[in-house]
Amino acid sequence: MILSMDLGPESYNIVVERGALTQAGEHFNLDRKVLIVTDSGVPAEYTQKIASQCQNPYIETFLQGEEHKNMQVYQTLLKRMVHEGFSRSDCVVAVGGGVCGDMAGFAAASYMRGIDFYNVPTTLLSQVDSSIGGKVAIDFEGYKNVVGAFHQPKGVLIDPDVLQTLPKRQIASGMAEVIKMSATCDAELFAFLEENDPMQHIEAVIEGALKIKKNVVEQDPKEKGLRRVLNFGHSVGHAIESVAGFSALYHGECVALGMLVLVAPELRARLKRVLDKAGLPTEYTYDSARVIEAMKMDKKVSDGALTVVTVRAIGSFDFEKIPLNELENKMKEVL
Ligand code: NAD
Ligand code: ZN
Repeated sequence: MILSMDLGPESYNIVVERGALTQAGEHFNLDRKVLIVTDSGVPAEYTQKIASQCQNPYIETFLQGEEHKNMQVYQTLLKRMVHEGFSRSDCVVAVGGGVCGDMAGFAAASYMRGIDFYNVPTTLLSQVDSSIGGKVAIDFEGYKNVVGAFHQPKGVLIDPDVLQTLPKRQIASGMAEVIKMSATCDAELFAFLEENDPMQHIEAVIEGALKIKKNVVEQDPKEKGLRRVLNFGHSVGHAIESVAGFSALYHGECVALGMLVLVAPELRARLKRVLDKAGLPTEYTYDSARVIEAMKMDKKVSDGALTVVTVRAIGSFDFEKIPLNELENKMKEVL
C-alpha cells in the first residue's frame, strides 16, 4: 500500500509492504551521498540492504537506547557530513526506531538549513507513529525532545517483516500507540483489535493506524490543536515514565496506564482487555504524590489543573481541564 501524506509542497509517500527494504532505490533518490543512520540494536542486515541500493553510502551506527538521543551523537552525525563533504543536495536515511529517526531527522533538518530526509522505521512504534509526523528532536539537559524541529521526510518505507526480530515487549509498546489512535479516532479499528490477534494481521493494523495519524497530521501539521488528540494517555503516562525511570517501564507501557486513568469508567474493562491482549500492563504500584509532582512540570498545567484528552465513547475524544487533585484520585482508584 502507498499512502500519500498531503502537506502541499511538503507532501510525501509512505510505502507499507512486506520485503520493502529491498525497494528503497525505487522510492527514494539514492543516487547521491547518503548518510545512513542506525543504532547498535538494529540488525545490521537491514542497513546493509539499504546501503547496497545507494551510490555513495556512509553508515553511522550509534549505541542503542534513549540515553544516546543526545547532543554528542547528533554532533557526530553533523561532523560526519561536514568531513565527507555533504552538500545541500545530499540526504540522510534513518534505519531504526524512534530514537534513530528523531535524531537523524534533526541532523537532516539542521545541516545546511535542511537537507532531504528519508525514514525506514524498524520498530512498531516508529512505523505507526514517530516516522510520519515530521517531528524530529534530541533530548537535552534531562528534558525529552526539548531541542528539535518540524522537518517532514521526503519518503517513508515501512517493511512489516523487520518486526520479526523486534522483542515482544517493544511490539507491545508500539501497540499502545495503535490502541490510543483507535480508541480516540476509529471505533472500527478498536473493534478489530478486540476481536483479532493483531500480530496475525500486522500489516492491516499498521495501515489502519497510519491512516488515522495521516488524517490528524494533515489537518494540524504543527500541533496547534487537533494533533493533541495523539496525547491520549500521555500526560499521565509521561509523569509515570519520569517517576518510574525511563528504562524501568517502556513508553507504551506508561501510555497504557495513562489511558486507563482517562477513559470513561464504563469503557475501562474493554480497554483493559485490549491492553492485556497486547501484553501491556493494566496495573502498577507507584507513589501517586510523586507522579502528581511530575505532572506539575507539564506545560499544559494552569491554575492547578491539567488539560487532557479523555474518551467517553470509543472512536471519539474530548479535551478536558481536570484539577490535579481530581486526577490523583482517579489514579488511586484505577491503578
Ligand atoms: P528505539 O528507537 O529506542 O528502539 C527500541 C529498541 O529496538 C532499540 O534498542 C533498537 O536498537 C531496537 N530495534 C529497532 N528495530 C529493531 C528490529 N527491527 N529488530 C530488533 N531490534 C530493533 O525506541 P522506539 O520505541 O522505536 O522509539 C522511541 C522514541 O521515539 C523516543 O525517543 C520518543 O521520544 C520518540 N517518538 C517520537 C515521536 C515523533 O513524533 N517524532 C512520536 C513518538 C515517539
Ligand atoms: Zn507516545
